[in-house]
Amino acid sequence: MKKIKKRDQEYIKQNNLKMILDIIKDKRSISRAEMVKMTNMSPTSVSRIVGSLIDLGLVKETEASSSGVGRKAILLDLDLESVMTIGVYINKHIINVGIVNFGGEILYQDKIKLNSKDIYPEAIISKACSIIKQTIKDSKIDCSKIIGIGVSLPGIIDSKKGTVIFSASLSWENVNIAKAIENKLNIKTIVDNDVKLEALAESLYGVGKNSGKTALVNFGRGVGSALIIDGEIFRGVTNIAGEIGHITIDPNGILCECGRRGCLQTFIVEDNLIEEANKVKEIVDIKEIFEASHNGENWAVSILERAVTYMCITINNIVCMYNPDTIVLSGSLIEAYPEILKAVEEKCKTLIWSPLRGTFKILYSKLKSESDIIGPATLALDTFLSLDI
Ligand SMILES: [Zn+2]
Repeated sequence: MKKIKKRDQEYIKQNNLKMILDIIKDKRSISRAEMVKMTNMSPTSVSRIVGSLIDLGLVKETEASSSGVGRKAILLDLDLESVMTIGVYINKHIINVGIVNFGGEILYQDKIKLNSKDIYPEAIISKACSIIKQTIKDSKIDCSKIIGIGVSLPGIIDSKKGTVIFSASLSWENVNIAKAIENKLNIKTIVDNDVKLEALAESLYGVGKNSGKTALVNFGRGVGSALIIDGEIFRGVTNIAGEIGHITIDPNGILCECGRRGCLQTFIVEDNLIEEANKVKEIVDIKEIFEASHNGENWAVSILERAVTYMCITINNIVCMYNPDTIVLSGSLIEAYPEILKAVEEKCKTLIWSPLRGTFKILYSKLKSESDIIGPATLALDTFLSLDI
């Protein structure tokens, strides 16, 4: 019994530490008195917990604030340089690496382009490790402050085991990338799906900062989505929640990269739009569809209108399922052609089921490619930061 009681106390202590740290992380300048009001904890408890966080080196006292009358309150903030993590993003074209501080800011970053020969996991992991090592060296940051590495890549990921179960775009199956990097660099490593981590970054540091329930939809090479509820990624049982691109729209439709027919993403992704266009005109680049559409060519206008309709259907399905307060749109298609965003907003006015109209905002990703680094770095921070005292 005694043991259980001790464990319970330890659990409560850790939870309180985390709660106070999260408040400081969110507010970035707050007095002990304000925290007492926010948490309903006693001033003694708040002071004790803040003391522990200062002892851990994670929080520091900053300039006193003055409201004009009375005693000045001492404010608390994160010690930004106390701990750092590394965010790594891998797709078949590029490896991006960045060192991120405790406040989610990228301090130093680098990237390498991959060529078509770099298809084997061993080759890509080896390149990733080299660039991580080089980035740490170039940044001249004290290595002991780096507490972990987060890796983001497209695919189905078992985040607990550190394994890429399947990545269509990288052609990987069952690759334990976390263990491979840990063994090479001796730094704790975690891996997760790129869209989930992009959503995490946007919800904590980007346009979703004031949202409690953020859904991010990425329209690019595929169609993916992720839901963040109160700062936590909604994963489902096997971390596959959000793979909306593979919802069946037409069982007799065209083949999808997943091997089935008529998935939602076949109506939206660049490769399929180009394939559709080639029925009328020989083109190789999505740019040509937009140019033709600007010139009023019917086939191009029709292709883009249909893509926009299916984007709105995607958004409608997500808001019907999850009723979020914010939809963040991102991805190469939206980033390269901002006019798509306007068209989607316009069409959503009529296409969204009426009880849901006006219940959510549609916002455009603020962090863009930075989220590829900030997302995995944040996951590494959440996973590896120790609050043991
Ligand atoms: Zn599919």
